[in-house]
Amino acid sequence: SLTIGIVGLPNVGKSTLFNALTKNDVLAANYPFATIEPNVGVVGVPDARLTKLAEIFSSQRILPATVDFVDIAGIVRGASEGEGLGNKFLANIRESDAICQVIRAFKDENVVHVDGKVSPKDDIETINTELILADLQTIEKVLPRLAKEARIKKDVAPKVAAVEAAKEILERGDTLFSQGVVQGSEKAELLHDLHLLTTKPFLYVFNVDEDELTDDAFKAEQSALVAPAEAIFLNAKLEQDLAELDEEDAMELLQSVGAEEPGLATLARVGFDTLGLQTYLTAGPKESRAWTIKKGATAPEAAGVIHTDFQKGFIKAEVISFADLVATGSVAEARSAGKARMEGKEYVMQDGDVVEFRFNV
Ligand code: GDP
Repeated sequence: SLTIGIVGLPNVGKSTLFNALTKNDVLAANYPFATIEPNVGVVGVPDARLTKLAEIFSSQRILPATVDFVDIAGIVRGASEGEGLGNKFLANIRESDAICQVIRAFKDENVVHVDGKVSPKDDIETINTELILADLQTIEKVLPRLAKEARIKKDVAPKVAAVEAAKEILERGDTLFSQGVVQGSEKAELLHDLHLLTTKPFLYVFNVDEDELTDDAFKAEQSALVAPAEAIFLNAKLEQDLAELDEEDAMELLQSVGAEEPGLATLARVGFDTLGLQTYLTAGPKESRAWTIKKGATAPEAAGVIHTDFQKGFIKAEVISFADLVATGSVAEARSAGKARMEGKEYVMQDGDVVEFRFNV
């Protein structure tokens, strides 16, 4: 499955956040290089629709979609030159499908900042510079060979042009992602086999003080620093506390800081979206479940996520939108109200589709 790599300077709260993500008690130590081995945390994507479906179908259990977060060893200036844990860092990040940067905004004199001062803008620049330099190294390695190849094979020319355009963006100090050259897009297609780091989609977690959680002006300012990437604001220590509480106490704590949902819930949802994923829903007495598909997936592709036989033998999908199902109250009522659609092979799955597949075995 697709993974999101969590990166950031030392001491910004990565371990704390990751502990909250996994509810594992990995020691959050107050010194650089605290997180050396990459770990994976599998997080549920909260979806209130599943609770509602479980009610309607009297489901025994609820299975949400999940996002995998990989805790990647701390980056430092010089990582692109293999300094510190640089090489390992770059290898791990290359294997991730999206990059989640944790940025320190919280002020705490007891927690040392590697560069001596709390400055989200500078930290973002430090990390992005390492990623950009790593990409430039990759490009400088392949470009001479590509240019040579292009002199013999005409069809290599567009690729050389794409690599040169990428080089120009990087030399300006921009990530490729920020310029719309993102994995899966047409612009990035010719760069695919270079496995560049900055074509991965980015998202940013600002680890903020509690009073900043509701400071809209502050949040707008930070969001502007990272656009078009999404920005999420949370307090990692608060998230760790929330993860240890039962639901009722957690709600109370959230309300006391003026937040609507845990930051991790937002992170899981935004992360899922950043990976280019969406869900469709199935429901029955056994379980109500969200299944993960790529945005734009067709009905047979969606069926294939449940079982390859479902895709091979696909006949039709009976689709009821979640809203219609709730409004009518049952599948039978939805059918008689004409709200159940029979969709064929070309159908592109929509968010909130509640589906039952018809297939040959
Ligand atoms: P990492 O090196 O990025 O993994 O950072 P850690 O999670 O180990 O955190 C470094 C130190 O900062 C620890 O002492 C944490 O308790 C502390 N810390 C983490 N998040 C916060 C926060 O939101 N507020 C404050 N005041 N301290 C935090």
